[in-house]
Amino acid sequence: MLAQCARCGKKIEKHQGYEHQGNLFCEDCYMDILSPPKACDPWAVHSAQTFLKGKDKLSTLTPLQLRIVNYIKGKGEATLDEMIENLHLKEEELRREFAVLRHMEILRATKKGDKIFYLLF
Ligand SMILES: [Zn+2]
Repeated sequence: MLAQCARCGKKIEKHQGYEHQGNLFCEDCYMDILSPPKACDPWAVHSAQTFLKGKDKLSTLTPLQLRIVNYIKGKGEATLDEMIENLHLKEEELRREFAVLRHMEILRATKKGDKIFYLLF
């Protein structure tokens, strides 16, 4: 009895097909589906490695990120409004960079009253 591979459409004998999540696949496609993705993301690996080094964290920052970090380092803590004014950056830019820096455990935020202050991690 003939069936069709759900992925490439090749005609296969039903008893030779491989079932996976309710679909029938030929051997090639079945192997493809089960094998892990071949392509790896070099950037993800790179940042994971630099992340592990810890001490070198600051050397991986972009010039913009360094400006933010150095500003906060100099002040001890800073609000978003203050940085928008003094670093001449847009709020979205700052928020985006802060998200990266927070993720790298370089900066953190703390709430004082109704204001958010950014400081070194
Ligand atoms: Zn196939």
